[in-house]
Amino acid sequence: MTYLDHAATTPLDPEVLESMMPFLSGITGNPSSVHAVGRIARSASDDARESMARTLACEPQELVITSGGTESDNLAIKGSARASARRGRHVVTSAIEHHAVLHSCASLEREGFEVSYVPVDEYGVVSPEDLAASLREDTILVSIMLANNEIGTVQRLSDLARITRDRGIPFHTDAVQAAGHLEIDVDDLGVDLLSLSAHKFYGPRGVGLLYVRDGVELEPLLDGGGQELERRSGTENIAGTVGMARALGMATDRLEHRARREGEMRDMLIEKIAGATGDVVATGHPTRRLPSVASFCFRGIDAESLLINLDLDGIQASSGSACTSGSVIVSHVIQALGLPEAFEAGSLRLSVGDSNTPEEISAAADIIIAHIVRLRGIAQEVTEAEFGAVGG
Ligand code: PLP
Repeated sequence: MTYLDHAATTPLDPEVLESMMPFLSGITGNPSSVHAVGRIARSASDDARESMARTLACEPQELVITSGGTESDNLAIKGSARASARRGRHVVTSAIEHHAVLHSCASLEREGFEVSYVPVDEYGVVSPEDLAASLREDTILVSIMLANNEIGTVQRLSDLARITRDRGIPFHTDAVQAAGHLEIDVDDLGVDLLSLSAHKFYGPRGVGLLYVRDGVELEPLLDGGGQELERRSGTENIAGTVGMARALGMATDRLEHRARREGEMRDMLIEKIAGATGDVVATGHPTRRLPSVASFCFRGIDAESLLINLDLDGIQASSGSACTSGSVIVSHVIQALGLPEAFEAGSLRLSVGDSNTPEEISAAADIIIAHIVRLRGIAQEVTEAEFGAVGG
């Protein structure tokens, strides 16, 4: 098996699991309880928060623990827009965001907010000029992702965030795909809100965080006991928080090594596959991209057939966003790149990670190339048969 779908989810690191074990079984305590067992849970949660805050260069109280990237994006967008509604009702985002962002924006539109969708260029890059042009007097939030989940393009976020900072508009970024591959410092990026999800960097599923810069207003999505400083009610997921902190710490320690290793495997995939197949676009920015993501659009290929064939050969890959996989509808990200139509249905994302080796990647590339050549041959035969039938 060659798992090339790390952008969909990564395996839980055994060391992370070990850190979580004391909080998964036995009496683990509720951090809101005043007794000794509750205090142990509180202290574990506080330590985890402090460690994550150090990594992201923020204060522990600026972190809200959530159930993952989707909730963090929802809280950032709906929570801050609703809290600022008396100042304005205009939100700006990009055309290539994850559905957690786009559908949150759609939800705001149904509530009477207006949303502008900034376009991207052929590489999936948002230009500072386009962002500046989209801002209005009543703009109360901008949300642009740090790294794209389908094509791996990394935005020049600090340049974008500077534009909104000058105008006092809060800036949210979905950094779910960036964590574990790029350094994330909220001040260097210049963002006010930032979403992460632990299962993308070898942590547990079902836990994530939202960084909320001190002073940024947020209306909670959930009513309840007022945990997380009144921003996210619900008894805390201590095991998840501890695991996420351990995974983030390990990701930071390993960042350079991992990025170099991933980058070599990514480049091998792009060079081999694009070089051998022809009639292909290597999607995403050629250099400003995640070290882990190789992505393509092949002319004359149906992505779903390719994925099924690869799976039968033990290669797990993805097309479009994995969160909506199984669908052959051309994703909004691919559509936004403005490629010729004949390439759009043949998108493939290969995302490498710790479990892969260069030898395995080289062998997988050969198998992928063989499938593309074969599928194109079949498509050609079908076309000729149809032409023959019409002609006859
Ligand atoms: N944002 C991006 C860019 C993602 O890639 C994903 C997951 O694929 C999410 C948000 C949603 O994260 P989660 O699965 O933790 O809800």
